[in-house]
Amino acid sequence: SNFAAALENTITPPVKVEHTQLLINGRFVDAASGKTFPTLDPRNGEVIAQVAEGDAEDVNRAVAAARKAFDEGPWPRMTAYERSKILFRLADLIEKHNDEIAALETWDNGKPFEQSAKIEVPMIVRVFRYYAGWADKIHGMTVPADGPHHVQTLHEPIGVAGQIIPWNFPLLMLSWKLGPALACGNTLVLKTAEQTPLSALLVGRLLHEAGLPEGVVNIVSGFGATAGAAVASHMDIDKVAFTGSTEVGKIILESAAKSNLKPVTLELGDKSAFIVCEDADVDKAVELAHFALFFNQGQCCCAGSRTFVHERVYDEFVAKAKARAVNRSVGDPFKSGIEQGPQVDSEQFNKILKYIKHGVESGATLQAGGDRLGSKGYYIQPTVFSDVKDDMLIATDEIFGPVQTILKFKDLDEVIARANKSMYGLAAGVFTQNLDTANRLMRALRVGTVWINCFDLFDATIPFGGYKMSGIGREKSLYSLSHYLQVKAVVTSLKNPAW
Ligand code: ADP
Repeated sequence: SNFAAALENTITPPVKVEHTQLLINGRFVDAASGKTFPTLDPRNGEVIAQVAEGDAEDVNRAVAAARKAFDEGPWPRMTAYERSKILFRLADLIEKHNDEIAALETWDNGKPFEQSAKIEVPMIVRVFRYYAGWADKIHGMTVPADGPHHVQTLHEPIGVAGQIIPWNFPLLMLSWKLGPALACGNTLVLKTAEQTPLSALLVGRLLHEAGLPEGVVNIVSGFGATAGAAVASHMDIDKVAFTGSTEVGKIILESAAKSNLKPVTLELGDKSAFIVCEDADVDKAVELAHFALFFNQGQCCCAGSRTFVHERVYDEFVAKAKARAVNRSVGDPFKSGIEQGPQVDSEQFNKILKYIKHGVESGATLQAGGDRLGSKGYYIQPTVFSDVKDDMLIATDEIFGPVQTILKFKDLDEVIARANKSMYGLAAGVFTQNLDTANRLMRALRVGTVWINCFDLFDATIPFGGYKMSGIGREKSLYSLSHYLQVKAVVTSLKNPAW
């Protein structure tokens, strides 16, 4: 391949790993067991650092710190403006350390450094400023109840939140979780993904530099079955928020129910439809569909992984989608001009290659790619399948990799039915200039987000979440706040109802 040369010399990341311990009660500490696990560089599988491995005992310690910070600490009792100022200071500090944080993210995850530095870190700055702005604008109502009563609602923080995040956007997921929880006055325990523990620990340090009281945010690195399970089933955690697979989402909901019935929000998998209508400008549609699928190495819960193309433009679309994929620049994510780095780890890498094999065996036409790239690390060739049928595994399962599957459709009724015939319902893309078509599709698609002539717009002000088995609840936007608040009704008898 023309990219193999780019993979030969691994660039030394422009950052040092400073924090590898757990962050509990404002201090970096070893795991109670003393255990560590290696976090790996996806470019070559080499060890970046040994990281403290938290398990149930560490989650207990973290919850105790968060509990104390909530029940006795200043955080929920501070003025909302004080909390707001700390979040604004955090945003400033993240901005100041932009490239250092971005480099850690790329090293641990494999995504292009230019994207970490110019997109993801600036996005989390925006998210923290968005929530900093909310802190002093959260309040209840006065209610016109019948009878001689004064009725009001108090919007109170829910308590200690347990938050479990995945590895595909470690920083962005952290910000979507921490932002609303902190703005509302909660304390929390964050369990990062075992593949990508590093960037969160640096943000944790910056939070304390920004003036966060100890115990408000505790960060536990570790594995799902141990640390993650301990969070979901903890009796002293008041709410759990999870982003990850639908399979684990079900386990979280079950553990929450079996323990203390803590409310659960879930942001899970998808098989997003990207619908290219017959009036499409094919060049633009190809470029957007390419972005929708291949962005972040295809590791997006809302990757446009079912590309439905109208039969009138199908052949031209397939030819151009193939050409675009072949030209995608894959290589060391620290090199400039790179669009695609390695997949996050060997497990994802092998899973994707298995799905590609499935695609070939089930009779889809392999237009581009189809194999690994180079001989070390987890690089995969940008892959395109055409002639994909709805019931093929590559059209039903979340592949979470750089594999575009193109399906043909004839009319709108048909594509609506096929797009909706999925257990998932997170997002969809629509590409058309026809207002009637756009209006029809935006209403008919059973998904939490419809992007029309755009894709992957993740502005902090826009709610994000799933229908069906893609999840429960919404992140970002004002809708996210309700998941971190209790509503208390206060009814006061009036002495003189007629004042
Ligand atoms: P992915 O397939 O994208 O890795 P997972 O759902 O397996 O997604 O993981 C997402 C997050 O959930 C990670 O932080 C992981 O450690 C955690 N996790 C995995 N299994 C469990 C579990 N049984 N209980 C709680 N958390 C888990």
